[in-house]
Order: sequence, then C-alpha cells, then structure tokens
Amino acid sequence: MDEFSFINAIKQATYKQPTLIKGIGDDAAVFRQSSKDIVTAVDTFVEDVHFSRKTMKPFHIGYRALAANISDIAAMGALPVFYLVSIVIPSHWTEDELSQIYSGMHSLAKTHMIDLIGGDTVSGRELSISITVIGYASRGKARYRSAADEGDMVFVTGTLGDSQAGYHILMNAGHFINKGYYYKRHQMPNPRVAFALELEKLQRVALNDISDGIANEAAEIAEASGVSITLNYNKLPTSDMFNQFTKDQQRNWSLFGGEDFELIGTIPKRDWQFVKQAAQRTKTKVTEIGYVDLSKRFVYLQEENKRTPLDKKGYMHFK
Ligand code: ADP
Ligand code: MG
Repeated sequence: MDEFSFINAIKQATYKQPTLIKGIGDDAAVFRQSSKDIVTAVDTFVEDVHFSRKTMKPFHIGYRALAANISDIAAMGALPVFYLVSIVIPSHWTEDELSQIYSGMHSLAKTHMIDLIGGDTVSGRELSISITVIGYASRGKARYRSAADEGDMVFVTGTLGDSQAGYHILMNAGHFINKGYYYKRHQMPNPRVAFALELEKLQRVALNDISDGIANEAAEIAEASGVSITLNYNKLPTSDMFNQFTKDQQRNWSLFGGEDFELIGTIPKRDWQFVKQAAQRTKTKVTEIGYVDLSKRFVYLQEENKRTPLDKKGYMHFK
C-alpha cells in the first residue's frame, strides 16, 4: 500500500469536534479556539522498549499508546479533543497489522470523541509511534504538580499494580485468577478523564497520572510543590484478587509498577466530600491514601507504626 492509500485508510470519514476547521489532507490541521486554555503533550512508544508484541496485539499497541497520552491530558484536568500520530514503520509489519494499530487508537478515540487530525508516516527499522494530543481546559483551570500544600490529603483513583500483574500473567505460564481483568488493565487502560474534569470547581488540586509507579509520581508532586508526601501502605487500593500474587510482587507492583494510568492527587481536607461525590458521579473508585506536610521534600511510606523514606525507584526508561 502506498502512503496515499494508507493515509486514506486511517482518515476518519467525519470529525466530531466542532472547533476543527481542517483535518487530515493538507499540510497541517487547523482548529479555532478563543475561550479555552490549550493543553498539549506528546509521547513516543518504541517496540521492545515501551511495548512488546509478546504481551500486546497491534490493536492493543495503538489503544495503549493513545491511552497514555489521553491520561497526561486528564492529569492536567483538561478535556482531550485532537491527536496526531507520527509513525515509523518497518517493512516486516503487514498492512493488516498496521490497520489494527489504528483500529486500537480509533476505538479509544471514539469513546472520548476525539479526532485524529494529522500525522506523519515514514519507514524505518523499528516500529515507533509518537502521539501528540491536544486538549482544552477552562481558563486558569489546568492542574499542576506544584499545587500541593501542607495539610492536604492524598488520594488515588482505581487500583494499583494491575498493569504489572497483567504483564506478569501474560509473560508467565501458570494458573491465575481473573486473567481477563488483568490483561485488560495492561492492554487497554482507561484514562480518568471524566473524573479529572469533574474536579473543575475545586480551587486547588495537584494532579499527576501514574505512568511510572505511585512512588515516583508522588515524588514528582513533592518536588514540584516543595512538600513531603506520606503514603499509607495499608491504604493503597488493590484489586480483589491481588492477594494471589506474592507479598513481594504485591508490594513492588503497587508502589513501583507503572502504567496503571490512575490519578494521584492532593487537595485541602475540606474538599474530600466533593472529590468523593465527583468519583461517584463518574463511577470512579477513589481512596484516601496519605497526607502532605512540610518535613522535607520527600515521599515516606507509613507501615504500622514506622514511617520510612520511600525510594522512588519507579519504572523508568534509560535508567
Ligand atoms: P506533508 O508532505 O505535507 O507532510 P503528508 O503526505 O505527510 O504531507 O501528509 C498528508 C496528510 O496526511 C496530512 O494531513 C498529514 O497530517 C496526514 N498524515 C500523514 N501521515 C499520517 C499518519 N500516520 N496518521 C495520521 N495522519 C497522517
Ligand atoms: Mg508529512
């Protein structure tokens, strides 16, 4: 297939976003926005560095790459509206596999009503997908990591460690309970857009999405805000059947296993009721897991009666 028919094949027949003026088909896309703050992020996924065909079908590769990007926009408290995809295609990838990657992206894009408005297609040695996503936030309402303050409480959405558990199950033969649930958490994560948007009325909230493990994400908030964060290990939410894994696995995956794409946030205590209601309205699980103080710019782990500094040895590339 030549580049022209490839682009035609992935191009949407119609666009959903009313602010779009020109989508795919010219030198660049055009949209018009005069009332919102524009929030944008890019992420690149390289085969065998960020994903592996051993644990993901082409559909999942596309789905998850877009999910990770949408999650960044959610963590800014913004609504994702457009995305652009730059893809490096090795010659051994078939047309069908490529179109599966795009089906994965389209499928998630559809549920969020976001439009594919451009990209670039080149050939190369390894499959690499770079996605740029554009979102809108109400004026002055983008959410920063630097917003945490003394006395805040810390919350997290969903459950932690499931993506790593799914990866483990996919890589290791054996008997596991709820395989389908863990596969889905690894291959098709659900970015928390609706919940984050529901927090719009709050005056102040620090937000970060969990791509590299909660220890690491909490440390990013602590550093950016000049505070310390204490996480209570016994309060960290995990899935129903998480105790089928060893104690070490549970600990490693819930603290350092990334890619759950849940949100960690800090808010003044008085806003906790509001956050719980926002979670209910968007059918999101939310759990109080810790607190913010000014002791040192650090993350601590509270277990029973002892509080120890928590290494942020999250899951980081190029370590
Ligand atoms: P140009 O030479 O001007 O960069 P291209 O042939 O690369 O034009 O792209 C033509 C149109 O197709 C543009 O609108 C571009 O954004 C879009 N496009 C190209 N590759 C992709 C892709 N992989 N995904 C989405 N849109 C793409
Ligand atoms: Mg181009």
